[in-house]
Amino acid sequence: MNRFLCKNARDLQQGGIRRFFDMAADYPGAVNLGIGEPDMATPSPIIDAAVKSMREGKTHYTPNAGVLETREAVAEYLQRFGARKDPRTEVIITTGGMGAVSMALQCCITSGDEVLIQDPQWLNYLSQVKFMNGVAVRIPVDEQNGFQPRAEDIEKVITPKSKILLLNSPNNPTGSVIDGETLAAIAQVAKKHDLLVLSDEVYCELLYDGREHVSIASIDGMAERTVIINSLSKTFAMTGWRLGFAAGPREIISKMVFLQENLTACAAAMSQYAAAYALRTMCGVDEMRSVYQRRRDIMHEGLASLPGIRCRKPEGTFYAFPNITGTGLSSEQFAEELLKKAGVVVVPGNAFGKCGEGYVRISYANAEENLKEAINRMRKYLEAL
Ligand code: PLP
Repeated sequence: MNRFLCKNARDLQQGGIRRFFDMAADYPGAVNLGIGEPDMATPSPIIDAAVKSMREGKTHYTPNAGVLETREAVAEYLQRFGARKDPRTEVIITTGGMGAVSMALQCCITSGDEVLIQDPQWLNYLSQVKFMNGVAVRIPVDEQNGFQPRAEDIEKVITPKSKILLLNSPNNPTGSVIDGETLAAIAQVAKKHDLLVLSDEVYCELLYDGREHVSIASIDGMAERTVIINSLSKTFAMTGWRLGFAAGPREIISKMVFLQENLTACAAAMSQYAAAYALRTMCGVDEMRSVYQRRRDIMHEGLASLPGIRCRKPEGTFYAFPNITGTGLSSEQFAEELLKKAGVVVVPGNAFGKCGEGYVRISYANAEENLKEAINRMRKYLEAL
């Protein structure tokens, strides 16, 4: 270990997902259902909007909060979910949703503050909180309850040090969505215990069977204690554009703007202009949603027909989180054997936290024929078990 590294950097580790991808590199014919990113291309009118901005010479630093036109497009977009935000003071454009989560946490965590996060959960939250000297506190969720965090379970872990509640619905890795009643009960707990809610809504457009997204920020009394995090990565297949945003109370957003000024200045200008166009037109979103819904159905029906596997139907995202305990294997063993013996890459559920044990995460952001092939390979492997 290099002696110049600080303690928090020394503690940084590669996440469990990456480790599996590295292993998968040794199996070139494997069907990869591990990757959490859209396989589709960014719609070309969005690319055209970026190119146009560059041709017009908009290739320089932008305001630290982001281009006003893009912030206005974000504020208009958020109105769909009942969130009213002033684009001049309550919105910041960031480097992906990750940039938004990280700056919000940096601006709100004082060493020792507790951040409540559901388990299983997207692991970047945990390492960010730890890196910022916060204390991550787990809220276990379970399959019987549709993997939703329950208000009473949140209340059980609250202490005087609890400060932030991190919510992510639709959820990575479970594919579940918090229903309106549960969201209202969680809002009550947040108000009662004076918690700030970071509401990560990056999958909010990937909702199926006609469901509509509800933001906790739209619930009475929540706007003043909620920072909405969102991004263009999943909605418009724009992961590489690194464009996200946060919207919340002006006192928090203004500090995030100062932080961004000092850390990275701003998100990439061309991505910001593309985002303004994308959010105003919602270009390609309906088409992508119906493609994902069809794939969700193929994957869900396929998994449900496999011996030893049980899977609830995901309501959103592009992840399924099947229960594999019927195979008698741990999630690590299952994922490892599936790769080596069947040539299918999935991520063991325990990579997302203790409560993910007994599950694997399967991404169906992949072509239909690959999904069908993966199911066939899994069937052969499981029947031979
Ligand atoms: N939040 C969740 C739950 C995610 O799964 C991801 C990406 O996988 C992100 C945020 C961040 O996405 P990005 O930084 O690409 O916007």
